[in-house]
Amino acid sequence: MRKIIVAESAGFCFGVQRAVDLARKCATENRGEKVCTLGELIHNPGVVESLKALGIGVINSVDEAQSGFVIIRSHGVKKEIYEQFEQKGIKIIDATCPYVKSIHKKVEKYSEKGYTLIIVGDDQHPEVKGIAGWSKNEVYIINSVEQAMSLEVNQPICIVAQTTSIKSHFDAICDVIKGKYPDVLIFDTICSATSLRQAEAERLSKQADVMVVIGGLESSNTIKLAQICRRNCKTVIHTESADSFDEYKLNGAEKVGVTAGASTPRQNITEVVHKMENSMENANLDKSLEDFKRLKVGDIVKSKVIAVNEEEVYVDISYKSDGIIKKADFVQDLYTDLPTSVAIGDEVEAMVTDMNDGVGNVVLSKLKVDELASIKEIQQKYETGETLKGKIAKVVKGGLIVDIGLANAFMPARQYALRYVEDLNALLGKEVEGRIIEFDKDKNKIIFSRRVILQEQLDARRAAEAAKREAALSVIEEGMVVEAPIKNVTNFGVFLDLGGVDGFVHVSDLAWRRVNKPEDLYKAGDVVNAKIVSIDKETNKVKCTIKGLTEEPWVVFTKTFKEGDTGEGTVKSITKFGAFVEVVPGVEGLVHISNLSHEKVESVESVLKAGQLTKFKIMTIDNEKRKIGLSIKDLTEAPKRKPIQNKLYYKEESNSSMEDAFKKYLDK
Ligand code: SF4
Repeated sequence: MRKIIVAESAGFCFGVQRAVDLARKCATENRGEKVCTLGELIHNPGVVESLKALGIGVINSVDEAQSGFVIIRSHGVKKEIYEQFEQKGIKIIDATCPYVKSIHKKVEKYSEKGYTLIIVGDDQHPEVKGIAGWSKNEVYIINSVEQAMSLEVNQPICIVAQTTSIKSHFDAICDVIKGKYPDVLIFDTICSATSLRQAEAERLSKQADVMVVIGGLESSNTIKLAQICRRNCKTVIHTESADSFDEYKLNGAEKVGVTAGASTPRQNITEVVHKMENSMENANLDKSLEDFKRLKVGDIVKSKVIAVNEEEVYVDISYKSDGIIKKADFVQDLYTDLPTSVAIGDEVEAMVTDMNDGVGNVVLSKLKVDELASIKEIQQKYETGETLKGKIAKVVKGGLIVDIGLANAFMPARQYALRYVEDLNALLGKEVEGRIIEFDKDKNKIIFSRRVILQEQLDARRAAEAAKREAALSVIEEGMVVEAPIKNVTNFGVFLDLGGVDGFVHVSDLAWRRVNKPEDLYKAGDVVNAKIVSIDKETNKVKCTIKGLTEEPWVVFTKTFKEGDTGEGTVKSITKFGAFVEVVPGVEGLVHISNLSHEKVESVESVLKAGQLTKFKIMTIDNEKRKIGLSIKDLTEAPKRKPIQNKLYYKEESNSSMEDAFKKYLDK
């Protein structure tokens, strides 16, 4: 089964299409006036004939123009030509291809700067002649490596290419010049539409049994296409149109490749292909032949970029006309540099917004398709409640504008947080997560909420805490002794982490003795034992005690001691009137100064020191007031005292003391 593959880049380039459209428009709008082209508009007799039918003539020099309009073809012309037409009062329709126009500007600019201009291209081609005419200095036109080698020019040098040059050929020539001269500025001005077409012809010709190249026999770019195809394919048929195409030359070929020059209308391609098709049974046309479909405003089409400049993107929409997408319909950010962000061959989906931009192009909008896709995506994210990330872009009355990628959404101030936020401006630039809570595509209304997520998180946290608390409460009971870490220490007590519920120990339950500050005893993180005193399941309050783990010291004391018992304890503190001695841990008794010794005591400190151990005798126990009277002197018997008599007695007494002292000495 034979297969015909038509190159996607075949046929009119945007520059030629634009020129043809401009010419038709001019003729249509200015009926009755003379309209002509300077030289044949394109190298295609069929098209030239069709233009003639519209009243568009051809002149070959400025002198031939008498009045009306002159159309400058896509090849462009020298600068002086414009001046000459203007002087004659001829109105100019400038159909110079924007690519060629940009070469003119470069040549003018660098020649003014003193560069020597070198054009790589065919010196007989009108485009090359036109380019040369924009230089202020001498221009060298070369088209071979040999010419480059023998070239002698002044530096600095600026090199440009004829738009239809073959890239490898241009590079080889530039390499030679760069090797000879260091100060060379090179502009690869080969038209990307041309290089794309040539690359596709190269690729197709390597697979095809026969290559059919459609285009004017005089057309430079068509001739180059045929040359490229011949390098890879044995049978290459160069034909101008279906009329001159001999389908029998296909001669049983299974795979036929078709390409066409930049000046070949799509109609010509279709006619040639139909002729092939008619000559074949069971021809299997490539999908790219699905041409000339019906289009209407609102249709969404798949297209391929064929040219791009600062303001527009031209696309092939497989229609009789190419499509044009204005910058404002292509990108949101008008500072985008289209030529660097869009490449020839890029696939673009766009919506038809107008069937004719005035010069025959179908007007499209990529942004409308993006918008529809965004709306669809937003609807889906709204319905599924997907969590989205966004960036706060602006503060407006009543809330914030959040860029959620697909669109800008409004976030009312109360939807930002669970609590009131005073300064919304402080949120600018922040990344937020949220959900679309309201979407009305007709009103273009998207309400975004962060609060809804925070609330959910809070609810989930609370539910988890409640479950944990319930579990904790189910395993504790009053009277139970638990081991738990201290969560928090406050002035009025400590909170224990009972694994889901807090246990509270009041400061008065920390110890049997008086505690001024709980922090003197404990810090957060300490692990303590505590007894659960009460559980209130309604309020989830659990009261605990630490001191309750031990018996009350007074009870311990009364169980251990009674009046008259003796013991030993530490002097805890000294006062003027006596010393406090710890009888049992947590219970102190007072040794009054009068009970320290049988002898007269001047000061308590002369007998006892804080911290020292001392023996004591319990003299009194006041259960009501919880007071204990201690004595040290009653541990020993009081020394016997003689009554005071007279001087003589005094002397005897004095002698007696001496005897006692001696006796004590002997007793030692
Ligand atoms: S081939 Fe390129 S430079 Fe020439 S007219 Fe077409 S688009 Fe313009």
